[in-house]
Amino acid sequence: MVLTESMEDYLEMIYRISRQRGYVRQVELAQALNVQPSSVTRMIQKLDEAGMVIYEKYRHISLTQRGRSIGRFLVWRDHMLKQFLQLIRTPAAIEEQVEGIEHYITPVTMCLIRDLVVFFRSNPKYFMALERQRRSPSYPEGEKFEELRAWLFRHADAP
Ligand code: MN
Repeated sequence: MVLTESMEDYLEMIYRISRQRGYVRQVELAQALNVQPSSVTRMIQKLDEAGMVIYEKYRHISLTQRGRSIGRFLVWRDHMLKQFLQLIRTPAAIEEQVEGIEHYITPVTMCLIRDLVVFFRSNPKYFMALERQRRSPSYPEGEKFEELRAWLFRHADAP
């Protein structure tokens, strides 16, 4: 079963919160994702059907083994994309940009990005060469494209 963006965001958050003690409460999830408790209920049912969470009504939510594997990957993906954007010295809005990228990148491409980050971290000489050939980060002649923020349209409360 393919997971929607929203399902991925929930799984990532469930993994983050439940990592320490093994479970999460619905109300905590609603607060953390800034959504209505009714949305959480619906989404947990979907994640249950997808075999990602274990959930009984009015009980705590916990991850299945598969849910935990995917949750761990989603947290890693978020972390690695931030590392990547920092490496290439994106001037701002890293979290927004990760939000725009994360659901559309394949796991294989993520691993290639990891290799790139690791390579430049462990080879400062090449990193310096990259730094030397940098141009101004503005596109061309300082034009800005404030209209291009489509990622703002999506998010957690979507059905
Ligand atoms: Mn997301």
